[in-house]
Amino acid sequence: MAEVNIINHPLILHKLTLIRDKNTPLKEFRELVDELSNLMAYEVTREIKLKEIEIETPISRTKSKVMSEKNIAVIAILRAGLGMVNGILKLIPAAKVGHIGIYRNPETLKPIEYYTKLPSDIKERKIVLVDPMLATGGTAVACIDCLKKNGTTDIKFMCLIAAPEGINYLQRHHPDIKIYTAAVDERLNSHGYIVPGLGDAGDRLFGTK
Ligand code: URA
Repeated sequence: MAEVNIINHPLILHKLTLIRDKNTPLKEFRELVDELSNLMAYEVTREIKLKEIEIETPISRTKSKVMSEKNIAVIAILRAGLGMVNGILKLIPAAKVGHIGIYRNPETLKPIEYYTKLPSDIKERKIVLVDPMLATGGTAVACIDCLKKNGTTDIKFMCLIAAPEGINYLQRHHPDIKIYTAAVDERLNSHGYIVPGLGDAGDRLFGTK
């Protein structure tokens, strides 16, 4: 069963309240999503393997740990996932970034992949797949299908708010994926929005409504 990690540090919960508030303006919303992604990245990267190198301090030679160069790829689910990329890159500037665009066909309700651009060495990297909202889970599952087809196995899914329905769907389809979220909300409404949630993350990030 996919593990669910709820990262409920007080700083994260405080900022989450601010982005939930409908009166938080665009600029602050964007900055807060960036800060939340940055804070959550600490926990998401906790299991990264380090290698030991030898260095010289002003006092003596010593062995010390560093991240291996080819390590992480951040994959943003378009479009709201874009808002989470820079916050992670501030901590891991050498990470490569990929993008997956998926929409749901309104008739068949099947996810349609319309854009995919992944780092060429994706198979060698650990993946952090980002989307602020895990709602039905349909898009996340389709993106993970795509990543696995491209040969990746080590994938973590990071969101800010998850619905129980999305967690269940993701766990059913990809029990090997670890989920990281700041909150698990009550439910989805009839329009597929998370309740209480924060509204449409894309619209709030890009000012499109
Ligand atoms: N996507 C959003 O942006 N918000 C939701 O509540 C659900 C899906």
